[in-house]
Amino acid sequence: MNILSAIIERIDRSKNIVLTAHKSPDGDSIGSSMAMYQYLKTLDKKVLVCHPDPCPNYLTWVENVDEILNYEEQAEQVAKALSEAELIFALDYNHPSRIGDMTPLLADSKEKLVMIDHHLNPADFVSLAYSKPETCSTAELVYELIHADSRVEMNERIGTPIYLGLLTDSGSFRFNSVVARTHEIVADLLNSGVNHTRIHESVFDQNSINQIRLKSYALNQKLELLHDNQVALISLTEEELNNFNYQKGDTEGLVNTGLSIKGIRMSILLQQKGDAIKMSMRSKKEVYVNQLAADHFDGGGHAYASGGISHDTMENTLNKLRSVVANYL
Ligand code: 5GP
Ligand code: MN
Repeated sequence: MNILSAIIERIDRSKNIVLTAHKSPDGDSIGSSMAMYQYLKTLDKKVLVCHPDPCPNYLTWVENVDEILNYEEQAEQVAKALSEAELIFALDYNHPSRIGDMTPLLADSKEKLVMIDHHLNPADFVSLAYSKPETCSTAELVYELIHADSRVEMNERIGTPIYLGLLTDSGSFRFNSVVARTHEIVADLLNSGVNHTRIHESVFDQNSINQIRLKSYALNQKLELLHDNQVALISLTEEELNNFNYQKGDTEGLVNTGLSIKGIRMSILLQQKGDAIKMSMRSKKEVYVNQLAADHFDGGGHAYASGGISHDTMENTLNKLRSVVANYL
């Protein structure tokens, strides 16, 4: 039996299903979760979506995201949902640590866990894995699953969050991981009533004034170029973020602006939160930021889009970056 039939069979055998996705939700984790939610609702399942933290403001327009339980604010309900679930999906993450404080809740759930994901090197914590690292988004894999289920017709309600995941994880359909199949899927979604213009506007045209001012400040005052303008660093301290009344998601896309500078091969955004500095890394042309993240910043991810963390001061972290990035060019 192929993997999709096996997953569909597991769904058939379960009434109570919980959907989990990684912390700091993005378009793909929210999109995959909500597409699965709509699909499973169509099959008349009891479905709960349990995420580690709240949905960012720029994605609150997605249908039914207000149904998501988040562990940060609803720990008890999330713990109860996971303990009662017959089947748990791990969407858009490859390692239990990616769900943050929720990680211990999955400790004894391997038999119940099914992974749908596109990150490299999936860890062995599930009983069934639909893992395709060459795919640009988890939403694309969710599409393939639903497409393989002959009982369910694609429609706008299921298709909109799928399109969201495809759009955001593919850099608006420009990354190398986009293939002809991606566009075939998009064609099917549009034929099924998905309104792509509305989704693009909902994702990209929702900047607040503070957000525009914060991004402008970051680019104007905090952008540092290294190694003949091949590396762009942007650092934002907690104080600077607070000056612009920072809300989660406000710096979305900023690291990609760094990467859009002519000749740039690596772009890194550092943001301080409490005693940690969260780093977002992007690269191109044979520069692999997942190696830099894994070697020095307790992180990882995709070759061209990774992340990591530092518990040092901003100045020390920047100095460390300045001394090691050349090794990855
Ligand atoms: P972003 O910069 O959008 O937060 O993250 C880009 C990608 O890097 C994510 O899709 C994820 O694969 C990876 N990533 C981000 N933060 C971490 C981290 O702390 N650890 C690991 N292993 N991967 C991360
Ligand atoms: Mn993803």
